[in-house]
Amino acid sequence: MVEYRVDFQERNAHLIRVEAKFPVAGEALELKLPVWTPGSYLVREFERHVQDVAAATEEGKPLAVRKIDKATWRVEARAAKRVVVTYGVYANDLTVRSAHADDTHAFFNGACVFLYADGKSPARITIVPPADWKVTVALPEAQPNVFAARDYDELVDSPFEVGTHELLTFTAQGKPHRLAIWGKAPIDRATFTADIVKIIDAAAALFGDGVPYDDYTFLLMLAPNQYGGLEHMRSCALLTSPFTFHPRKKYEELLELISHEFFHLWNVKRIHPEALGPFDYQREAYTRSLWVMEGVTSYYDRHLLVRAGLQKPDKYLEKLAEELSKIASIPGRKRQSLEESSFDAWIKLYRPDENTTNSTISYYLKGGVVALLLDLEIRARTGGKRALDDVMRLLWSRFGKTGKGFADDRVQALCEEATGVELGAFFDRHVRGREEVDAERILRTVGLQLSFDGDDEEGDKKAPYLGITTREDGDALLVATAFDGGPAVEAGLYANDQLLALDGFRVDSSTLKDRLDARRVGDKVRFTIFRRDELREVEVTLGEKPVEKFKIEPAASATDAEKAAYRAWLGEDWKPAED
Ligand SMILES: [Zn+2]
Repeated sequence: MVEYRVDFQERNAHLIRVEAKFPVAGEALELKLPVWTPGSYLVREFERHVQDVAAATEEGKPLAVRKIDKATWRVEARAAKRVVVTYGVYANDLTVRSAHADDTHAFFNGACVFLYADGKSPARITIVPPADWKVTVALPEAQPNVFAARDYDELVDSPFEVGTHELLTFTAQGKPHRLAIWGKAPIDRATFTADIVKIIDAAAALFGDGVPYDDYTFLLMLAPNQYGGLEHMRSCALLTSPFTFHPRKKYEELLELISHEFFHLWNVKRIHPEALGPFDYQREAYTRSLWVMEGVTSYYDRHLLVRAGLQKPDKYLEKLAEELSKIASIPGRKRQSLEESSFDAWIKLYRPDENTTNSTISYYLKGGVVALLLDLEIRARTGGKRALDDVMRLLWSRFGKTGKGFADDRVQALCEEATGVELGAFFDRHVRGREEVDAERILRTVGLQLSFDGDDEEGDKKAPYLGITTREDGDALLVATAFDGGPAVEAGLYANDQLLALDGFRVDSSTLKDRLDARRVGDKVRFTIFRRDELREVEVTLGEKPVEKFKIEPAASATDAEKAAYRAWLGEDWKPAED
């Protein structure tokens, strides 16, 4: 048994203090902190925030302790049967994957806070909160503020919210649920919890088996300009803006985030590739299947809202058109397959830079669309008898319930087994390959027509095109990304160039687009820029804007079978386009 005691007396210095008692078998004890936390595939080296490490016997006699690598402390235990280690963790990173402490709360993931020895021992965690704070965590509470974890995995999988938060409780699927809300927001609590219950019911109906937990905890943190979610076995951490409850579009984005993290309790926490559990907390866990974990979850997060009646099918299809447009605008889609994007998450998706758009495609974005297309492909080729839901139920019964991981190279075979559909060509194109997604053909199977928005309006298509995205740095307008093959790159305009003037007139973020729109395709324009503080001029010949905005509409020639497939997929009758 490892015993931890955590206090927050130095919260105004963003310090979480830990005292940990470890049993010792030999001469010395090696203690480590993880370099990453499950669900967030980047080596973050949480140990860089650890300070003031000291060790002693239970009687208080100091013991020598020194670091032997970036994440390991070696304690010379001598004859001691137990050692007591004390340390501080600097906690000033407000995200769902790290640790944050201030005068209102402490939120922390175990990977940031708890040193471990073998990782197998059960743990007892005593939280010592300030007088008016409460403790919310998805661990069994042995006594008030004393919690038990089976092993280190469970401890790391159970983030703590300790503070002044509001705690709501409700029942869904016959099980108790808690919702902790930190931060101020105008919330209609009854509607909000009722909507969450609808999401829970829709997800449980998909897997067809109730919910695989005794209780579940949502930890919701509200802070402006923040966004993120992290999934766990019996809880999830959510971080978003307090201004997300209205209007409806924003609120549906919040529900989508909740649905996403909740769906993960099946897909990734219980159903997962071999690499994702048990975890090696000291190095990267490589898998080619993050697109299954995150892409499939991204498909279902919004589809569950439609199933639950929380999002209208027309809004759903609008968002799908936006996603298809986004994919088509990313040159990196031709450089990375979904499997490659999954495998390199550690060095690419989680470490974006000015070349990201040119060299990578997100396994969330493309993975979500490919999961949708896979669902429709299965439905079409089985006459509606099978769907992606059948794949999820097979994965659940074979892997989720047994705790076994699946092999990366078995995903196609498992989809085929669950549906009876041969999917080699689909996987070659969409998963292993870098071709365009086959959306136009597949959407026709549910009576929908994919077309270019503004296709027939000359003005739109002929808008002059520079081929950059921009960002602001203080008052400066900078090139963020210059798209491969675009006019800016051809002319030698670079990422990080500061744009000052166009044809001698100042430009800023509010005027650049208007100035460009006033020109024609083929015009030469002269940019005055700073590059490494040197004033320079670059002449760019404006190109033609690639058509990259899609719309999805009911197809005029939809057949009865396609209309029925639409209804089976989105739960309402297919309707012809309105003019
Ligand atoms: Zn996710």
